[in-house]
Amino acid sequence: MNLKKSIRDKYETVIGLEVHAQLRTESKIFAADATTYGDVPNTNISVITLAHPGTLPKFNRKALGYAIKMGLACNCEITRENIFDRKNYFYPDLPKGYQLTQDKTPICQGGYVKIKNGEGVEKKLTLHKIHLEEDAGKSIHLSGEEDTLIDFNRAGVPLIEIVTEPVLRSAEEAGLLLSEIRKLVRYLEICDGNMEQGSLRCDANVSIMLKGASAYGEKVEVKNMNSIRNVQRAIEYEIKRQINLIEAREEVVSETRTFNADTYTTASMRTKETLNDYRYFPDPDLSPVVVSESWLEKLKREMPVLPDQLMEKFTSHYKLPEYDALFLTETREIAAYFEEICLKDGHPKSVSNWMMGPVKSVLNDNNWQITDFPIDANTMAALIQMVLDDVLSFTVASRQVFPELLKNPDQDPLSIAKEHHLIQQNDTDSIQPIIDEVIARFPDKVKAYRHGKKGLIGMFMGEVMKKSKVKVDPKLANELLRKTLG
Ligand code: ADP
Ligand code: MG
Repeated sequence: MNLKKSIRDKYETVIGLEVHAQLRTESKIFAADATTYGDVPNTNISVITLAHPGTLPKFNRKALGYAIKMGLACNCEITRENIFDRKNYFYPDLPKGYQLTQDKTPICQGGYVKIKNGEGVEKKLTLHKIHLEEDAGKSIHLSGEEDTLIDFNRAGVPLIEIVTEPVLRSAEEAGLLLSEIRKLVRYLEICDGNMEQGSLRCDANVSIMLKGASAYGEKVEVKNMNSIRNVQRAIEYEIKRQINLIEAREEVVSETRTFNADTYTTASMRTKETLNDYRYFPDPDLSPVVVSESWLEKLKREMPVLPDQLMEKFTSHYKLPEYDALFLTETREIAAYFEEICLKDGHPKSVSNWMMGPVKSVLNDNNWQITDFPIDANTMAALIQMVLDDVLSFTVASRQVFPELLKNPDQDPLSIAKEHHLIQQNDTDSIQPIIDEVIARFPDKVKAYRHGKKGLIGMFMGEVMKKSKVKVDPKLANELLRKTLG
């Protein structure tokens, strides 16, 4: 489905996201059942989760603490008296016939998340609220199986729902916001942020309007995207679909649509008219939960360093370019590893180059997290220092010593370099013979050089480096070469 740029440019896109994050508590929000992902279906289902008559929910305060931390990280106002409401509807994966949620008293109100687009422009995206609620079970549709299977293990797992104001203007911004939210929940260690496994989920509300219009258009809610990329694809598709409708003088119907990950399209699930009236009312089995001043202060003290603060430190204290700092603060663990190397080795930009070059490609190739990376910070620092001290060239260090270290992370880089005769030759005596040999091999080129074809220096350098197996110090070799060629 294509759209002419001139037509697309007439319209503005309006997007609001509803992001669900499963909290990493060990037990559920109102019961002691385990929350582990991937357990045998229907094994973590106590009578409370199944809502047997006469059972009473018991509130897990840890979940509220996690939600408050997210609120603090997003500059929200924290609600002191929290009431849990029943949201009533029938669905096979909802054993109680209602979901416990916060209707009138979301734990966090207002606030914002900062994003920066590709051009470096910063934008504060306003949040409407963050509330706490319980997850539903999961319907499983196996191929070849006629019946729908139900797994209640997930029912009652704590969730926060982060609701933005309709302040996003493009699929790119939605992607940036989701990356930022994922980064925050991981820094706070309140959610693993895994979209494929569904511990982070996002519904996108999308509408379009003529540029400069005073009222928003009719919005469509899109569900079932299991990656940030797919959220962006779903939004892109919706923008085109809606513009085409308006251009054809048809109406955009306010409805819920589902994303198809094979075709990158969306299809109608239900229109808003058929939506339930949820008849919210406060759960009579749960008393209001009060956030005391002292608890709030304790939570504030427990807040970890956040990505923003680390960015500031990495750009001003370590004087790294923003591009480097962004990569190095992607996770707490990468940042910690980088800083540990820096402690031993005083040259942050060199350490950063190693992190963004050889280390990153090893992580990508093996699908590793930094925590899977086998070489410890001390050893990396020693290797990097050898390059700084001109004991090894960067090329030899990264292409020969580094791969050996990956195989034997307990060895030290100096012994590897010695064993494989890789120590750089920094003295005239060892380099000059190589240069003489190369010059003797190319008499014509030497003549041409002496007649003014100075560009040939690159070719001579290449030969010297090749002949020495990249072991000579390139600066010194270049100097000697020029001198010898005259
Ligand atoms: P509903 O009552 O249909 O659930 P809400 O007002 O609760 O709608 O908003 C849900 C989400 O939709 C919020 O993230 C909000 O920012 C977003 N939203 C509201 N109006 C629009 C609109 N016209 N276009 C895009 N998103 C919108
Ligand atoms: Mg809503």
